[in-house]
Amino acid sequence: MAAGANSSAAASATFLNTLPVLPFKMKFPKTVSRYCPYCRKHTEHKVFLAKKKAPSSLKYGSKVRARRRGRARGTGNLGRYSKPPVTQWKMTGKKQTKKTDMRYQCSVCSKTHTQRKGIRIKKVEFE
Ligand SMILES: [Zn+2]
Repeated sequence: MAAGANSSAAASATFLNTLPVLPFKMKFPKTVSRYCPYCRKHTEHKVFLAKKKAPSSLKYGSKVRARRRGRARGTGNLGRYSKPPVTQWKMTGKKQTKKTDMRYQCSVCSKTHTQRKGIRIKKVEFE
């Protein structure tokens, strides 16, 4: 039994050693040359982070919409409507890092494009 515990501890230690070290801060250029699908060529783009907007009561997830779709009606277990918010009973928001949500604005047509895939970093810095 003791031998089994030792081997599992050693396995987790090696797994932790293989994990990549997340950088604390990462520098990004303020402008970058990037393909614009509207201009159909590479143009200068302004780089910035997307700001979180407050959720609208008229948008997806509203109670009215759920009622219309038959989610929060009747008696008995109403699924997510029977439970407290996820933030109260699940370990949410405990992550050390956040995924970047970059926006690229074309300097020619001033349309904005999004980043394909975010990367986990603690802090973003533009230079
Ligand atoms: Zn453009």
